[in-house]
Amino acid sequence: MNDSRMPYAVAATVPHDQLGRALHDLRISVTDRCNFRCVYCMPKEVFGRDHQFLERRELLTFEEITRLARIFTRHGVGKIRLTGGEPLVRRNLEELIAMLAAVPGLDLTLTTNGSLLKQKTRALRDAGLKRITVSLDSLDDETFMRMNDVDFPVARVLEGIEAAAAAGFAPIKINMVVKRGMNEAGILPMARFFRERGHILRFIEYMDVGHTNGWRMDDVVTAREIVERINAEMPLEPADPNYRGEVARRWRYRDGSGEIGVIASVTQAFCRDCTRVRLSTEGKLYTCLFATGGHDLRSLLRGGASDDEIDAAIRAIWAKRSDRYSEIRTAQTAKLEKIEMSYIGG
Ligand code: SF4
Repeated sequence: MNDSRMPYAVAATVPHDQLGRALHDLRISVTDRCNFRCVYCMPKEVFGRDHQFLERRELLTFEEITRLARIFTRHGVGKIRLTGGEPLVRRNLEELIAMLAAVPGLDLTLTTNGSLLKQKTRALRDAGLKRITVSLDSLDDETFMRMNDVDFPVARVLEGIEAAAAAGFAPIKINMVVKRGMNEAGILPMARFFRERGHILRFIEYMDVGHTNGWRMDDVVTAREIVERINAEMPLEPADPNYRGEVARRWRYRDGSGEIGVIASVTQAFCRDCTRVRLSTEGKLYTCLFATGGHDLRSLLRGGASDDEIDAAIRAIWAKRSDRYSEIRTAQTAKLEKIEMSYIGG
């Protein structure tokens, strides 16, 4: 398959890792804070009132993030996803978006829990944000409130999605994490609801991210189950990926009324084509969502290193990369002290 997404990929300068994967996607966490306490990501028991979040001076500034983004484009990075925690709780985020939107050739997107989207969507769009993904785990208020664990109502997230659509974001992707015993009854209602509205709903298998969500394989509703449930009522057919390395497996409704995606990190690993790297809000680089350690770029930024020196550091980190966690996952590896997803973004 011709990888048209990566005009730089053929350039000899683009580093490949130990498994021959080129770097293309940079996920930037702009804050470790969030106004939700989703049970599969930031359980309240761990991230309670006395949890120590990073202080402002520890966070990369917008200028530092933009400088790094420019350096990463040298390596073939063509897509940047802003994440958190919840990125919209970082003040004046639209200023960062305007700075990143000025970097040539970047596909700029953001993942949000939608809680602040209604207020912020216009400013994000005007600043140059191209696409948006909203997390929503159920249409049932009682279930959703139990999963976000801060009693945040569904209606306010739906208002945010509507405002984003009105502001011109399209198609909007909706991410639903499915956890057995919590929200699997919502799979069909969510599919019906978003099919009618033309948004792309993606189902995410519950993952052993971090080391605090108490993950068990028994709580995973597999991609196969999800597709079978929907197919029984709304017939589906497989659709080709939009590009190599796309995280979600695409399924099209046979009647032409749209598509869904399934992100099956647990049962259908996609590490072979993983072109993603993650930057934490304090400037550490992680080469896998399930990493146990990162590489400090902030001290280079604040220690007077030149762009070429930082460039060389990134190149060396990627060239040594051999991550393929989802291919080697076991009940034992699930217990490793992995970095929290709320710290490096999903
Ligand atoms: S487990 Fe790691 S290497 Fe595999 S797809 Fe996810 S981030 Fe990439």
